[in-house]
Amino acid sequence: MKLPNIVLLGTGGTIASTANSATALTDYEVTQGVEALLDAVPEIAALANIRCHQLFNVESHAITTKMLLKLARRINDELADPYVDGVVVTHGTDTLEETAYFLNLTVKSDKPVVIVGAMRPGSALSADGPLNLYNAVLLAGKTQAAGHGVLVMLNDQIASARFISKCSTTQVDAFRAYDQGYIGQVHSGRVHIFQTPALRHTTRTDFNMAGVKSLPRVDVIYDHQNAGVHFYEASIKAGANGIVIAATGNGSLSPQVRKGVKLALKNKLVCVIASRVGSGIVSASDAEGQTGLISSGSLNPQKARILLMLALHQSSDREKIQACFDQY
Ligand code: ASP
Repeated sequence: MKLPNIVLLGTGGTIASTANSATALTDYEVTQGVEALLDAVPEIAALANIRCHQLFNVESHAITTKMLLKLARRINDELADPYVDGVVVTHGTDTLEETAYFLNLTVKSDKPVVIVGAMRPGSALSADGPLNLYNAVLLAGKTQAAGHGVLVMLNDQIASARFISKCSTTQVDAFRAYDQGYIGQVHSGRVHIFQTPALRHTTRTDFNMAGVKSLPRVDVIYDHQNAGVHFYEASIKAGANGIVIAATGNGSLSPQVRKGVKLALKNKLVCVIASRVGSGIVSASDAEGQTGLISSGSLNPQKARILLMLALHQSSDREKIQACFDQY
């Protein structure tokens, strides 16, 4: 049987980390390259022909927009090669959903792209990385994984990059898509896909990052009781082009944040209201529409930031940006 040709790109994270004892589950460092991760799972050789490349080797909270652009370019170059059937990216779980959503909007191919991480370092008892990596390569080599946008593979669950979010700081079952669910499962070496995301992704987006070197600056500001305007002032001063507000409930803004947002709008920043709640939809009320705010819909603040950077790269027109939030 002809094996699929998969490119494995390493970026670091817990999956590439080791601690100094098998029972240390939180105190560890990135120590391993992607080739070492592959060597640790010889069973993968029976699934695919693999070509590895270490793009960077960092914890995912150190990932920058420049690195995202580099990763998207590399994946697009690899997938343009007719020899390559799919790409797997190893990544830290802390910001995995941001990278996965960025790629979901900027990869220009229907071939499978699977992002994989682990919650336990490679040195841990019951490390989850090896099986997650095995499942990710299995998934990336299947034609049934094509055309669903970027996929996230952890803990035997297949998720859409659009909907998945890290919801536990330490549990192995850390990722959830509360409202939309998983799109499938891998079980005993078999891929089961149950549904496909209806929102626009990959080849169906208007975002083309070829030749793009930087993106507009977008900050996320959290709302809470007794909030102040100072973060808005600082953001304006730092030259941000947009702000995502992690608002309370269904996008409600505290009195001081209303002032901060007004100031930001006056300074021509684009403001998106997302919710700090973690699930549900932020509906754009008439009042918000009139004051020029944008609703993130079902995107959480960190993903709304990714979309706002891409949208602002194309236009600062409020209606066009709201249309991006409605479609992507
Ligand atoms: N600190 C890690 C990271 O790089 C966490 C993880 O990968 O699980 O995001």
